[in-house]
Amino acid sequence: MASQRAMAVVGAGHAGGRAALQLRAQGWTGPIVVFGEEPDLPYERPALSKGLLTGEQSADQLMLAQAEGYAGQGITVRLGTAVTRIDTAARQVHTAAGEALDYEALLLATGGRARRLAIPGADQAGVQALRTLADARALQARLQPGQRLLIVGGGFIGLEVAASARARGCEVTLLEGGVRLMGRAVPAPIAERVAALHRAHGVDLRLRAAPESIAALNGRLHVRLLDGDLIVVDTVVAGIGIEPGVQLAREAGLRVGHGVCVDRHLRTSDPHVFAAGDVAECPSVLSGLPLRQETWQNAERQAAVAAANMLGGQTVYDTLPWFWSDQYDHTLQVAGEPALAATEVQRTLGEGAVLHFYLDSDGRVVGASGYGPARDVTKELKLARALVERLARPQAAALQDPNVKLKSLLTA
Ligand code: NAP
Repeated sequence: MASQRAMAVVGAGHAGGRAALQLRAQGWTGPIVVFGEEPDLPYERPALSKGLLTGEQSADQLMLAQAEGYAGQGITVRLGTAVTRIDTAARQVHTAAGEALDYEALLLATGGRARRLAIPGADQAGVQALRTLADARALQARLQPGQRLLIVGGGFIGLEVAASARARGCEVTLLEGGVRLMGRAVPAPIAERVAALHRAHGVDLRLRAAPESIAALNGRLHVRLLDGDLIVVDTVVAGIGIEPGVQLAREAGLRVGHGVCVDRHLRTSDPHVFAAGDVAECPSVLSGLPLRQETWQNAERQAAVAAANMLGGQTVYDTLPWFWSDQYDHTLQVAGEPALAATEVQRTLGEGAVLHFYLDSDGRVVGASGYGPARDVTKELKLARALVERLARPQAAALQDPNVKLKSLLTA
């Protein structure tokens, strides 16, 4: 008798690990095999640029489960194992070691790789990205008081690393190539507040600035900028985005756009192959337009939906986008899709805290962003997110007025 086909998961990151656990939790009794290139068990990434760098969190705390947890549930996690090919006709995955596994259904949770700086000298010791636990461990060891750090990229990695490095007593310069921080994901007025906060914490923050070359000299890194300036540091961190891991999918003949294209059930162009997490390009819940999200929530929720559908379900991925970023004692959140807004309303909460609401042409709240000291805004941000999740239609004047409780608009 032929042995039972497995549920195969390619990629042992957050989405891959969660999906494997979900497959078991949702009733699959056959084999589950997770393949991952990294040496570490699946972990959550948010703390890599925060608690892990400051020493407030340990690597163990980031793990979705310990080795005994997977073993106890009969989940095989093949670490340090690269999948080299997917044969969708035979329903087999092939590894670099020449093994083949027959699958019932397969999940691509291949995430992405940190984009590398493409300038002379970027390949030497002391220049690194921050994507993996190994990257975070290496950087943590370098963030000693008084050390000088240059960060390239004013996105979330760059800004969170800057805050963590300042907390560790490092001198920090941050270069952003664009005219403002977090250009892709965060509204300009909030980006300006974030820039001011970093400067107040002593970060030398430079916009429209980028490195041209790096040279190692007397144990330090001499970084020449495009404007001719020279910065001498101990460490360079590049936070300049990721490249989604679409190669296996492309070579298998699956449809690929900015990521692996999936439908609302997270199914790829092959009915037995699904994708979830950073690599999946899924129709937006609100607009139906292709959307690839690189967020914790997306990995967590898509993993559960993909697992359900790998088991024959018809669950639609209907979670609205949401992410947060903590820097110093401030928190920032964006919910929904601000890009779909016809109008925007601002609510000032005082003490440097603000909310922005984005309404579509039907007056629905399709997005909200907010920023401020965590102790003041966390509750308000939660309510703002709930307004988005319900696609509420409050009066713009009420949204704007801080004397009108957001909670009352939720129940209205
Ligand atoms: P990111 O958010 O895409 O930001 C990269 C930034 O670097 C952009 O502002 C980009 O500007 C800039 N940049 C690119 N090339 C540059 C260069 N050569 N010189 C100077 N600046 C340059 O990517 P990331 O910060 O690396 O983070 C990777 C992924 O992890 C992102 O999707 C991010 O959202 C996610 N992440 C999320 C969180 C969170 O949710 N809290 C935390 C960490 C990471 P242009 O846009 O103008 O190219």
